[in-house]
Amino acid sequence: MRIVVVGGGVAGLSTALAAARAGHVVRVVERDSTPMPESADAAFAWDRRGAPQVRHSHAFLARLRNLLVDRAPDVYAALLAAGATELRFVETLPPTLTDFEPRDGDDRLCAIACRRTTFEWVLRRAALAAPGVEFIDGLAVDGLVAERGCAEAPPRVIGIHGRRADGTAVTIDADVVVDATGPRTASPQWLIDVGAAEPPEQLIPSEIIYLSRFYRLRDGDDVPETAGPIGGDLGYAKYAVFVGDNRTFSITFALDIDDKAMRVLTEVDGFEAGAAQLPAAQPWLDGRSEPITDVHPMAGLRNRRRFFVDESGSPIVRGFAAVGDAHVCTNPLYGRGCSLAMVHAFGLVDLLGESEWERAFHDFTERELDPWFRAAVQQDRDAKALAGGEPLADDDPRAFMREVFRDGLLPAVRTSPAVYRAFLRWFNLETTPDALMNDAEVLAAVMQSYAERDSRPPDAPLGPDRATFLANL
Ligand SMILES: Cc1cc2nc3c(=O)[nH]c(=O)nc-3n(C[C@H](O)[C@H](O)[C@H](O)COP(=O)(O)OP(=O)(O)OC[C@H]3O[C@@H](n4cnc5c(N)ncnc54)[C@H](O)[C@@H]3O)c2cc1C
Repeated sequence: MRIVVVGGGVAGLSTALAAARAGHVVRVVERDSTPMPESADAAFAWDRRGAPQVRHSHAFLARLRNLLVDRAPDVYAALLAAGATELRFVETLPPTLTDFEPRDGDDRLCAIACRRTTFEWVLRRAALAAPGVEFIDGLAVDGLVAERGCAEAPPRVIGIHGRRADGTAVTIDADVVVDATGPRTASPQWLIDVGAAEPPEQLIPSEIIYLSRFYRLRDGDDVPETAGPIGGDLGYAKYAVFVGDNRTFSITFALDIDDKAMRVLTEVDGFEAGAAQLPAAQPWLDGRSEPITDVHPMAGLRNRRRFFVDESGSPIVRGFAAVGDAHVCTNPLYGRGCSLAMVHAFGLVDLLGESEWERAFHDFTERELDPWFRAAVQQDRDAKALAGGEPLADDDPRAFMREVFRDGLLPAVRTSPAVYRAFLRWFNLETTPDALMNDAEVLAAVMQSYAERDSRPPDAPLGPDRATFLANL
């Protein structure tokens, strides 16, 4: 098949890689003009205004890592060769987890530490090296070419049209067009323009703002020895330290979008004063590192899912699919977007041989991505309620769940091998969202930990209270 992939981010490049290796002829059309740099560090300077999130910390979860190991081991090896490192969770156990016995499959509890630009650079190199892939950058797609539908059949997409920066119009024919243009995709309008029904959507804004800054360890200095959490939820702010590739790391705050007092963190001095108060960040900022970027803010974050079938399950368009954030987008706080995008892309390509692949792809999305979309929406709701946005009555079951989470689950992760393993499988998308609390052994350990809450010494604080934090900015 001739496949045109619109968008050269993680979803588009994954689609191109999988499709080319399955024997298809692929053209990737990317709006940003981004010539391939020589190295991962040079890619960090890419002008990726079409995907501004590349300037933010990214977690690459075990689900993505294992997909690469299983389906594209050469790409995984190339990532490690480019400076990415493995985060093997069973080799960095909390010191309190003394009776952990390794089990088969534990080696798959492994994520990737890497900057987003490095990940994309390696993925693009692999896609470009695959037979039959052409990468066309500096071309903005602005619509679809389609055979009009009729009462019995929806429109069939047969190509795209777009424009280069100099205004030149370009049309490219295709058997399949894949929209991988990310969260701000215009494809619903493109579909309407060719006579398809508007794809229904569920949109739940995340109401947070992200602030990230990157650093590099100084020559002669090394990663600090740390055993505690790498981040935390302070109630008024969430934060984490992310290990990157090639001696880089980053610190990210996620703040309530309406919290004006915290806006001082968008300035370099405010950010440094805030980061210096975080126990998880302090060892990284003790003089062993220097900043390599300004503070990058990003708002407009969302959970959003679109549907490309009608109420009877029939596709609203043929010859067209949306992958990654253009189809299902989840709050970045949970670090799932790239993993889900890659699962989606490989899933699509696996189905292209079927006569009704559009319907099958919808079913795949329902099965593999939708549960994580719904989980993200629910996690956002719970977090909002817990942060006080929505007062909870004493008899609200969520008030009890909040206590069980804080005083049962989190301590049990640090003391029970069963809970540690199950939590990490859940966090890394290696199971279904509901598996964690549906596991009888896990539930028993969590409830026991909850019952023992008053006999434990209190946990070390993850950071100062809000008033102290603000006073020291
Ligand atoms: C602040 C932030 C932090 C995140 N952190 C994580 C994380 O820790 N872990 C994780 O897994 N995910 C994370 N995500 C989510 C992740 O970045 C996305 O899920 C992922 O980028 C989706 O990939 P994509 O290819 O669908 O879209 P994108 O990466 O956005 O790529 C879309 C591409 O399409 C191009 N494009 C757009 N319009 C056109 C057009 N008309 N013509 C041609 N090209 C076009 C753009 O230039 C861009 O290159 C984060 C997101 C944000 C916003």
